[in-house]
Amino acid sequence: MKDCVFCKIVNKEIPAHIVYEDKDFMAFLDIHPHTPGHVQVIPKKHCRWVWDIENIGDYFKIAQKIALAQRKAFNTDWILSKIVGDEVPHAHIWVFPNSDVKANRTDFEGNTKKIIAALA
Ligand SMILES: [Zn+2]
Repeated sequence: MKDCVFCKIVNKEIPAHIVYEDKDFMAFLDIHPHTPGHVQVIPKKHCRWVWDIENIGDYFKIAQKIALAQRKAFNTDWILSKIVGDEVPHAHIWVFPNSDVKANRTDFEGNTKKIIAALA
């Protein structure tokens, strides 16, 4: 969709710290992270609301994959998740470690590397 920031990230028109990508989904660091390694998991195809996504089971499997990688990357069991939908009109699930993790919230490069390494 034109003028959708997340569609632009999908099309690589806007740079992002991408931690995961397959043919249907993408995950990247939030630019205003609640906690270190705060990720947005999105469908590549524009969809306004999470609850309208057809292959929602596959979508949540990716959110789980990210959460498990964050556990490993930030050495915690406690991963939070939130679905709101008012900030960007493109479906997204927030997946982020609890705030007691020992890492820098704004170390985007470092946190991207940690999550990618934990996904491998
Ligand atoms: Zn979009």
